[in-house]
Amino acid sequence: MLTRRSLIQSLASLPLFGGLFSGGLLAKSELVAHAQSSNRDYFKELGLRTFINAAGTYTALTGSMLPDEVVKAMEYASREYVKLDDIQDKVGERIATLLKCEAATVTAGAASALTLGTAGVLSGMDEAKVVQIPDLAGMKSEVIVQRSHHIGYLHAVRNCGVKIVYVETRKELEDAFNEKTALLLFINAHNNDGRIRAEEFVKIGKMLGIPTFNDCAADVPPVENLWKFMQMGFDLVTFSGGKGLRGPQSAGLLLGRKNLIAAARLHAPPRGDTIGRGMKVNKEEVLGMLAALELYLGQDHAEEWKLWESQIQLISDQVRAVAGVETRIHVPEIANHVPSLDISWNRDRVKITPAAVRDALRNGHPSIETVGGNDSVGITTWMMRPGEERVVARRLREILEQASS
Ligand SMILES: *Cc1c(COP(=O)(O)O)cnc(C)c1O
Repeated sequence: MLTRRSLIQSLASLPLFGGLFSGGLLAKSELVAHAQSSNRDYFKELGLRTFINAAGTYTALTGSMLPDEVVKAMEYASREYVKLDDIQDKVGERIATLLKCEAATVTAGAASALTLGTAGVLSGMDEAKVVQIPDLAGMKSEVIVQRSHHIGYLHAVRNCGVKIVYVETRKELEDAFNEKTALLLFINAHNNDGRIRAEEFVKIGKMLGIPTFNDCAADVPPVENLWKFMQMGFDLVTFSGGKGLRGPQSAGLLLGRKNLIAAARLHAPPRGDTIGRGMKVNKEEVLGMLAALELYLGQDHAEEWKLWESQIQLISDQVRAVAGVETRIHVPEIANHVPSLDISWNRDRVKITPAAVRDALRNGHPSIETVGGNDSVGITTWMMRPGEERVVARRLREILEQASS
């Protein structure tokens, strides 16, 4: 059995604690005092390097940075008990009012919303079916998706036991439709890649009497996307909480018809015998998500856009001062719709690969994360703190200048 003494001894044998409490044996009071000390540099204690995020909203880079207002809401929620279903009811109602939709709930991210929304469509309010999923005996079991909309996140839908049926044309969709068809799923970021666009997709769903679900995970900005697709007629829509909305990365929004949101909730905690039990969001994330949404809706989006443009321009101007370097400023039309910079160069004049530049940025001081392939380094500034664009510009210029000669 692990006694307190042996636990503390084993902790003390770890480099971290051994270093902090030299002498090996750690008194309980010391551990408590350490835990209570203010201004602890946890990341440093743990040997973690922080970085400037010039890449964007990536799960692996821990999403976005929580604004103070969101942290305050989460801290507030941490100080009292409320019932989990009650806070979900009230916050869901408030989100639905803010976004002018029938109903809403906070999920553990957009992927979680895909699972819960699909499960709700399959079960309706039938509690026996809730328990039975992912065994779909006696239930509908197919979800139709355009082949060009395929993404890895469809796994979240397959979790429910359904089969994904891929189609390309409207004719193929109508032919694929049968008594097993439960849902028509749309990935908004791929709107322009498919033969069937969002409006037509919704119309087909209504004609066939099958609910439509739009995955808009990375699709704010623009802010109006938060209500556009419900108003277009989609029955369910999801957004990530930890991307453009800057809420908790472990949260997201599921918006939709009242009956479908109620059914999705049957699969979510606190209920235990459900497919969604592992997708818990507690009061802190639920309230944090609401605070983030309110803050986002109240923001001056035009002003923020101007800031991003000027930051991107500054970095672009700096790196172009290096002979042979070229830049392209662009805005992806859908998903991560923000000013973005691609930096490339003549390799005869600047003798370094984009991958080596990204490594040098990562390994320098401060560490900077960027994206890109074999031909360019990619930058966005929307996940940075103001001022960091100057550091990124300076480091990029240094690295590119060093490789020139
Ligand atoms: C990011 C993303 C997801 C997953 O969102 P989480 O909030 O991280 O669960 C799902 N679909 C698309 C299209 C995404 O971009």
